[in-house]
Amino acid sequence: MMSPDSLPLWQGYEQHEIKVPHCTACGHNHLPPSPVCPLCFSDALEWITASGRGKLSTWVVVQRKYFEDFDPPYVVAQIELEEGPRLTAAMDMADIDRIKIGMAVEADYRTAPNGMILPIFRPATLIAE
Ligand SMILES: [Zn+2]
Repeated sequence: MMSPDSLPLWQGYEQHEIKVPHCTACGHNHLPPSPVCPLCFSDALEWITASGRGKLSTWVVVQRKYFEDFDPPYVVAQIELEEGPRLTAAMDMADIDRIKIGMAVEADYRTAPNGMILPIFRPATLIAE
């Protein structure tokens, strides 16, 4: 999961920011991070800070224990960020009854049991400005 290519993404979470690789050659933003742009194969990449807002593309409730640090059930979602790429992240289980595909969501942040800070998305209407 963590590699040199994706390190800025994890470091961004610590600052409560979602970092996205941006190709300065063609303008494409992409995830997951890779050493070259998946569209034009340029290595002229820079990291931009995403707004943290997006749309819920798809989601699933994980019922089985796959990771020592994460107790099920929890929601794993794909968020289509405003900047274009899709990010795999958690949704808040507290919102389970109101989450709908296509809804506007916004990133909040939590400290996981292993001490990592991770984004957890919530319906945008529930996030105080
Ligand atoms: Zn490109």
